[in-house]
Amino acid sequence: MKTIVPHNTHLEDWIEAFYKEMKISNPHELDLLDISHRLGLKVEFLNIGSRYYDGVIILDNRISPQEQWQDFGHELCHALRHEGNQLTMSPLFAELQEMQAKIFAYKFCVPLFMLKRLNYLKTKAISEIATLFNVTNEFAHERINIGINLPLHNDT
Ligand SMILES: [Zn+2]
Repeated sequence: MKTIVPHNTHLEDWIEAFYKEMKISNPHELDLLDISHRLGLKVEFLNIGSRYYDGVIILDNRISPQEQWQDFGHELCHALRHEGNQLTMSPLFAELQEMQAKIFAYKFCVPLFMLKRLNYLKTKAISEIATLFNVTNEFAHERINIGINLPLHNDT
């Protein structure tokens, strides 16, 4: 499997295209096992911190389903986008990959094209988004911050 993932500017568009190709258009269809199966990516739940290693996404089995979904978004970015072993690469480059994976996870786990259908600027939106997209309140809060900073009505 080799997929080219663009840089953050067009990331929301790429994620939308990714889900459309999978015929996923609703939050309840966001299932990490289903997605990884269709990508031909192996997922294992182990008693260690989540990581991507040797073609396998390893998810920490001690954390909540919400955190596992968030970690899946993070590790999927490494799987799709990142070459190389972080243990042997320059710390600055590894740090860049971590920043990219962090942003990717927010946008992947709570896709903008689904978010746009909600009136998510309401104050009560955070817990609604958290429930709908199966993420933690903290994650939903951060996601909204990222979403609001985007030119939502001008996707170019
Ligand atoms: Zn990472």
